[in-house]
Amino acid sequence: DEAEWAEFDEVSAPEDAAPPVPQPVLAVVGRPNVGKSTLVNRLLGRREAVVQDTPGVTRDRVAYDALWNGRRFTVVDTGGWEPDAKGLMASVAAQAELAMHTADAVLLVVDARVGATETEEAVARVLRRSKRPVLLAANKVDDQRGDADVHSLWSLGLGEPMPISALHGRGSGDLLDAVLAAFPETPREVFGASGGPRRVALVGKPNVGKSSLLNKLTGEERSVVHDVAGTTVDPVDSLVELDGEVWRFVDTAGLRKRVKTASGTEYYASLRTKAAIEAAEVAIVLIDGSEPLSEQDLRVITMVVEAGRALVIAYNKWDLVDDDRRRQLEKEIDRELVRVRWAERVNVSAKTGRAVAKLAPTLRTALDSWDTRVPTGRLNGWLSELVAANPPPVRGGRQPKILFATQAQTRPPTFVLFTTGFLEAGYRRFLERKLRETFGFVGSPVRISVRVRE
Ligand code: GDP
Ligand code: GDP
Repeated sequence: DEAEWAEFDEVSAPEDAAPPVPQPVLAVVGRPNVGKSTLVNRLLGRREAVVQDTPGVTRDRVAYDALWNGRRFTVVDTGGWEPDAKGLMASVAAQAELAMHTADAVLLVVDARVGATETEEAVARVLRRSKRPVLLAANKVDDQRGDADVHSLWSLGLGEPMPISALHGRGSGDLLDAVLAAFPETPREVFGASGGPRRVALVGKPNVGKSSLLNKLTGEERSVVHDVAGTTVDPVDSLVELDGEVWRFVDTAGLRKRVKTASGTEYYASLRTKAAIEAAEVAIVLIDGSEPLSEQDLRVITMVVEAGRALVIAYNKWDLVDDDRRRQLEKEIDRELVRVRWAERVNVSAKTGRAVAKLAPTLRTALDSWDTRVPTGRLNGWLSELVAANPPPVRGGRQPKILFATQAQTRPPTFVLFTTGFLEAGYRRFLERKLRETFGFVGSPVRISVRVRE
């Protein structure tokens, strides 16, 4: 039934609709000719995922994005199990091991007309030890006459065989529902998908000008936007209109009070800062441009990066910055802020209003980066070229191979590399730099994690 597959499509959601949902991985395994490629193509609909066949990363393993019932996941085709020196069974078992270690769920495809061969029995033995959910697809059941063949596959001990026809689409919807059900639970969404005002934390050490800037942004008189249809505003937050858009500045109660409380010990202030950052999607770290950069400034920046929030650095009191100070400041940036070279800097003055209008576009850029999703096909095409030209350094006589990559999450962009060995920190930094050169991510932290095959 063709229509059953119509909803399936390579992921190409509009940027602003990208939900913060981690993307689970499904590995498709099976002997040659059972119909894995046909099935994967089915899963992806007619649109072909572009994965280049470049020597290196993805030669025998390709990863694609899939979408079913609003849930995104990555499909990894483990490729033909060509017999290696040790024979087909050994190579098949090795592939199954790999799938178990790299995927969130494994789909074993069997040709129901042929039934379970010795190879499938060997694979099933491997997969039964898996902590990951395993699904069993009995393929080439093109019509009801084939259903009888399916029952014998119970003997594999992998649970109920699901009859499908990859060629015609039969049974596909049920299979996909089962795949989604097998994936681990989606973690709770931190930020509602409702699309309310975006949440901003305005943070920085005492006296850098946070309340002055908030007052400038809200306008002394009008103060705050009180009502936005459909939003309830926590009284500790402020709704602020900037550049035609309403933003929620979180946890600003302390900033609005003219009289500062005496309880503002450093410890307490730091807890508040942390809480505001956690509650926000993007943070403006305000720094007093007229004074030398301090440890405390750096600590606040670190908090934002560690919390995985988008970041804008604003140098305030720019009206007090002269040429000498400016030269000193440039040196400080080179020395102390290299780790966050990706964050945009704005030089503002809460007093005169200088460049305050630049904040909104800068926030938008940072949030766009934070929300960015790189399609798996594109990511792997890029990565295979990069790794072919710059392979990971050999460690202990072994060259780790990068099998494939997927962006597991947005907010912030989080990449998972599946490898055959440990990747040195230096090489990971190299990958991050290259990732940024190609895909941008201005204003957002980027995370790279590595899953090593045992
Ligand atoms: P792979 O080696 O496991 O990737 O298998 P392929 O996807 O290349 O399929 C092998 C052969 O089986 C091809 O000729 C397909 O057209 C055929 N095939 C795949 N799925 C089905 C199916 O559901 N029914 C029938 N009748 N043939 C199928
Ligand atoms: P907060 O503790 O970070 O909220 O800082 P405040 O907003 O209370 O500002 C601390 C001091 O810096 C006050 O005396 C402000 O008037 C002053 N200040 C804030 N912004 C500027 C600015 O852009 N230029 C100058 N010259 N002074 C500023």
